Amino acid sequence: MFLEENQAKEQIVAFAKSIFDRGLTSGASANMSVRIEEGWVMTPTNTCFGFLNADELSVVALDGTLLKGLPPSKEFRLHKAMYDKRPDDRCIIHLHSTYATALSCLPAENANNVVPTYTPYLTMRLGPIAMVPYFAPGDDHLAEAVGEIAADHPGIIMANHGPIVSAQTVESCVYGMEELEESCKLALLLQGLPANKLTNEQISTLLTRFKK
Ligand SMILES: [Zn+2]
Repeated sequence: MFLEENQAKEQIVAFAKSIFDRGLTSGASANMSVRIEEGWVMTPTNTCFGFLNADELSVVALDGTLLKGLPPSKEFRLHKAMYDKRPDDRCIIHLHSTYATALSCLPAENANNVVPTYTPYLTMRLGPIAMVPYFAPGDDHLAEAVGEIAADHPGIIMANHGPIVSAQTVESCVYGMEELEESCKLALLLQGLPANKLTNEQISTLLTRFKK
């Protein structure tokens, strides 16, 4: 099932504004896309999440041709690399939200699981969050690195850059991103403190029970 183009545009404008209003992004650094039957609706390059205009959103064909609106975000290939490996997903969001971006600058002990599990909710929404090495924004190597692990990881942190999340609906993508940001905030607040993490057994139970 795909959203119609107009529904996709309405949802992007509404959720992007909500993301902006709550301080999860500033300036024109965030981008968001929704997969429709003909291709993607995407936030244009150099636009701010707080002030999007539905008529200006980029409509891009499956081969990357711009069909309508302004040119898409420079991170279009990053989104495409993730959709290619996650054919059931319909929405991708990339932010430079403060806490996930702060965590992206710390060394990864285990690149397949970089956010410590203090509470159940991130595991329930996205499972373990992976990290890819730093590449310049828009670099083909960044899209390749994300594409390589996207099948197993709907939530990825790009080192020294920020988070990207993929999901089956716009709503669940926003919730996943919010949970990732909150979990990174907790991880940084608890850094160096003797806090209890969930055990491997508790995490396995969550993955079996909640994560599809
Ligand atoms: Zn970025």
